[in-house]
Amino acid sequence: MLTVKCIFCKIIQKQIPSTCVLETEHTIAIKDLYPKAPVHYLLIPKFHIEHMGYLTADTTPYLVDLGLCVAKLSKTLPENAGFNIISNNGQAVGQSVLHLHWHFLSGKNLYESGLSL
Ligand code: AMP
Ligand code: ZN
Repeated sequence: MLTVKCIFCKIIQKQIPSTCVLETEHTIAIKDLYPKAPVHYLLIPKFHIEHMGYLTADTTPYLVDLGLCVAKLSKTLPENAGFNIISNNGQAVGQSVLHLHWHFLSGKNLYESGLSL
């Protein structure tokens, strides 16, 4: 299941330290080591899959749990704080760790910081 060289697999296996904010059967959520907002968590499925382009019917429980973890983490924020979920899928669009993860960001308006969609 786990690729030895993948840093997120090592975090899941507790081989390297992280600050865990939530853990379930299928997911670990940790603080990003280089936060880009006052709240910046990474939601990581406990299954090595490169990115969302490789999801299959078999990986559905992991994806559903990621969504449920987003909801749980959102309840830890101040009322009306809001949050962004960002997922980079592929090195060509900025993915640096090739293990699927969602960025959970709050406390900063990314659009006022230059993000444009
Ligand atoms: P991405 O560029 O979308 O692949 O995001 C990878 C994220 O992982 C970046 O925001 C990094 O700051 C973060 N990161 C890299 N190594 C670690 C680590 N050991 N612990 C926590 N976050 C990390
Ligand atoms: Zn991995």
